[in-house]
Amino acid sequence: MSKTEKTLTPRLVKKLWVAFILIIILMGASYIFITGYLTNKHNQAITQRVNAKVAEHVIQEKFQSASPFLQDGSVNKELFGDLMHDMMAVNRGIEVYLLNKTGDIQYSVVLEHNENEPTKTVSLAPIQTFLKTNGTEFVIGDDPLNPGEQKIFSAAPFSVDGQEGFIYIILAGKEFELISNNLLGQYFTKLGIGATLLTMFFAAIIGLLSIWFLTKNLRLITRTVRKFQEGDLEARIENPERSDIEVFAHSFNDMADTIVSNMDKMKSVDTLRRELIANVSHDLRTPLAILKGYVETLQIKRDSLTEKEKDEYLQITHDNIDKLSNLINQLFDYSKLEAEQVTPIKEPFSITELSHDLIAKFKVLAKQKQIDLQLDNPEENCMVFADVSLVERALQNLIENAIKYTQPNGKVTLSLHKKGKNIEIDITDTGTGIPTNEQPFIFDRYKQVDKSAKKQGYGLGLAIVKRIMDLHDTTITVLSKPKEGSSFIFNLPAYQI
Ligand code: ADP
Repeated sequence: MSKTEKTLTPRLVKKLWVAFILIIILMGASYIFITGYLTNKHNQAITQRVNAKVAEHVIQEKFQSASPFLQDGSVNKELFGDLMHDMMAVNRGIEVYLLNKTGDIQYSVVLEHNENEPTKTVSLAPIQTFLKTNGTEFVIGDDPLNPGEQKIFSAAPFSVDGQEGFIYIILAGKEFELISNNLLGQYFTKLGIGATLLTMFFAAIIGLLSIWFLTKNLRLITRTVRKFQEGDLEARIENPERSDIEVFAHSFNDMADTIVSNMDKMKSVDTLRRELIANVSHDLRTPLAILKGYVETLQIKRDSLTEKEKDEYLQITHDNIDKLSNLINQLFDYSKLEAEQVTPIKEPFSITELSHDLIAKFKVLAKQKQIDLQLDNPEENCMVFADVSLVERALQNLIENAIKYTQPNGKVTLSLHKKGKNIEIDITDTGTGIPTNEQPFIFDRYKQVDKSAKKQGYGLGLAIVKRIMDLHDTTITVLSKPKEGSSFIFNLPAYQI
């Protein structure tokens, strides 16, 4: 098992376990409480329904007896007391009260042995509901012995010698409550222990299975990450959309793709760098070898060479020194641009003026090659916001190329046009043109369409132009047809005066 797996999984499993146990305890406690409460209510409802007629029965029995418990408007305490004792002896859970018609307690034996201060009146509303529904509905009434508490009861009205009132029997009296609470306590303990053990047992099984199932994907992911870490760059999380942690799975796959593509890029950069070094060494070696050869010849044969030959050799030496310095300058510029060491210093300047200067500079070369070099600038004065020396460098390379790849009697035109907020700069020639399939690669370092052109350049000119365009957040487009000519077009932001 990997280090990540070791540390990640148990912590997650522990958390899942704690959550599980808490849920079980909470659910168990709620279950016990709810069943206890409902069972208690259910028992009370049964007790009330079964004993609903108790009060009515007392009245029927005693009001017809020879000695009724109400004589001349007052309670026959002896008779009523006996009756109550008898009833409460048979059913210890009940307490019998005699109420007048307003609910005032007239008499009860229980009041005599009570330590609490009992109420003197009982609310009539529950009694009326009880009588109306004939005892079929669960209803609770005031418990005189426990003011503020309500209990199940049975009640029946009476009317003797013009006196009206109720027999009110609390069915779940003190004794009932004592026994009920005791039994409920036992029930809770038994049910609690039993239910807890049982649920714990099942929860443990379900918990183990669930945790195994929940962490299954995580284990898979961890394994994949580990594989990638160990160097298997192809390792990816399969079906990330089906993974429990989809975002993570996608992110990992994306990250792996990015790492692989960056590695590929770095490899290709490395390859290009090596190619560059190889090409540069070759390009430096050739003019150096020529230089060495001619300088040696001049040294050895100084006396035997004619003045004309000496001049010719010196001219060749001079040309090769030019080539070398040109290449070294290009390499220097390119490597600075490539290493992102150049920060453009943008400022407003007249691209018209710069173009005039460049045309003047290249006029001699163009004339030598019998090429017509023109500036097409219908606007008065075009101002742009850019780095003047970088733009000059780019234009120089483009004009140089246009002249280089154009045959005598051809034409090279530098045009400046206002296009919205930009100035469009276009260098068009009637030269050799570039094959369509080669066009996308001409801005790459050392890319030369025609290998024989190597004599004429080093394949760095357009790569430098491309970098300069990047620094100005603009792009350069090439439109070219073989044997017809080429156009290099780019835009620079116009500067409004
Ligand atoms: P080079 O120093 O060889 O000219 P560049 O980077 O300037 O290198 O150009 C790359 C290649 O693109 C050239 O070798 C040439 O094949 C092609 N190219 C560039 N400009 C032109 C042009 N105006 N006409 C035809 N081909 C061109």
